[in-house]
Amino acid sequence: MRVLFASSLRGWGGGEEWFARAPVALAERGHDVRLAARRGSLLAGRARERGVRVHEVDFGGLADPRAPVELAALFADQHTEVAVANLEKELAALALAGLGRPGVALVGRRGSDFPVRPTPLARWLYGHQVRRVLVNSPGIADTLATQGLRLPRELLHLLPNGLDPLAPDPAERAARAADWPPGPGARLIAVGELSARKDPRGVLAALARVSRPWRLLWLGDGPERAAVEAMAARAPWAGRVRLLGAVPQARRWTAAADALVLFSASEGQPWAVLEALVEGVPVVVTRLPGLEGLVEDGVSGFVVEAGDAEGQALALERLLADPEAARTVGSRGAERAREQLGEGPVYDRLEHLLEGARLAELRQRRAVFLDRDGTLLPEMGALARPDAVRLLPGVAAALRRLGHAGYALVVVTNQAVIGRGLAQPAEVRAVHARLRRLLRAEGVELAGIFVCPHRPEDGCACRKPEPGLLLTAARTLGLGLGESWLVGDTTRDLEAAARAGVRALLVRTGWGGAEPGARRPQDRPAAAACDDLAAAARRILRGS
Ligand SMILES: [Mg+2]
Repeated sequence: MRVLFASSLRGWGGGEEWFARAPVALAERGHDVRLAARRGSLLAGRARERGVRVHEVDFGGLADPRAPVELAALFADQHTEVAVANLEKELAALALAGLGRPGVALVGRRGSDFPVRPTPLARWLYGHQVRRVLVNSPGIADTLATQGLRLPRELLHLLPNGLDPLAPDPAERAARAADWPPGPGARLIAVGELSARKDPRGVLAALARVSRPWRLLWLGDGPERAAVEAMAARAPWAGRVRLLGAVPQARRWTAAADALVLFSASEGQPWAVLEALVEGVPVVVTRLPGLEGLVEDGVSGFVVEAGDAEGQALALERLLADPEAARTVGSRGAERAREQLGEGPVYDRLEHLLEGARLAELRQRRAVFLDRDGTLLPEMGALARPDAVRLLPGVAAALRRLGHAGYALVVVTNQAVIGRGLAQPAEVRAVHARLRRLLRAEGVELAGIFVCPHRPEDGCACRKPEPGLLLTAARTLGLGLGESWLVGDTTRDLEAAARAGVRALLVRTGWGGAEPGARRPQDRPAAAACDDLAAAARRILRGS
């Protein structure tokens, strides 16, 4: 895919963090990715540092024509297929840039718990232009579906923020721990700007009621700094609160804390809390839609109400009274976070959601499902090195013809090497990134790659001959199985196709239907045999 992310924001917050991370994750998966960021913004600089291809754009007001004109030039240069943005202002600029240029699928992302205001512009955008809206929690999806413009549920797709643990070593933890004020008591941390929204004075007011010893480190800066500093200089806070200012990588300090405190009245899905959760640091947080399902009071964290100093103090007291119980809560929070926020699965999902938007824009419903080893690439056992990827002869040209005929090209591959520990998921992703790039250089765009990582003995529903991979791909990408074909080199492929209701062709490359444990010809689904993918493509094109 050719994807353009766009963000007009100047500062740095959760949304910008996402817009700096998501392009990296998609580029690692072999997509052509660019980011349109506001000229001179923090995002432009930081995303570039992370290796993102950044274009600085003059985002003005809605009446300013510069952004649509600059974005239209970017569309033309990149041949953009999918454009992702979070604010109505950027979506409008992208929609205007795409007028008279069909084929750009617009995808919105909402990371904050505000309804969409029912303006004529928003009605036009969400009613006619935007293909999908990504939201990072069920609570935020509810807000968007039931308040304001009330977006249709089928437009909303759940995509949590992805985050893997950092797990710093004990030496680094000790070094960061030295930044807390000296003295007895648990090391508490708060991360976020010193502004009314994060309620820093409320945090101090709650702490004033806590009887057990504590020390607080606040990372972040903002308009309330002077007021908070003045308050913290007085009893009972004097000597127990340190404002360290804004630091890059606040999560390195979070990992060294005993607990994280966040008392905001309104937030999306705050990264600071996710960062604490993945490290197993217990959190005391206000009830936020973005944390629903992640932080459950007394189980995987402590939940308080915004503005309720007494309730907040009680929760802190509870946390400090029993460090052992707090650690248990922290590890349960980490378990949930790892299940839900793992970067690999989360960004795989982002990739598939954008691929589905692309196909919806192209109105493609029919697909050719392609086995990987023995069909596209030589059958060579475990393949974990991107530089070992070689296409079989004639594969690129055959796929190009199928693509031009309107077939979505979807790879479905069993990779038990992952389940057996012979290849890491990241290595398989790198192999697939290389496959995508090789094919893109030949004018072929894959519509998706779906991987079963399990071993045969795991009994999953996705490993071919089970039909699960095909069913998932069809559901995720909006494909019609009855209009589609599968090409593969094993009897497992043929059986998966038959069970999913997809017509199949066997190629004589790779195993040619004689893999170990293959079904005998009379026992397997009927399928014509072709010499190779080129012959299979000719047959599909004749029959369609
Ligand atoms: Mg194969």
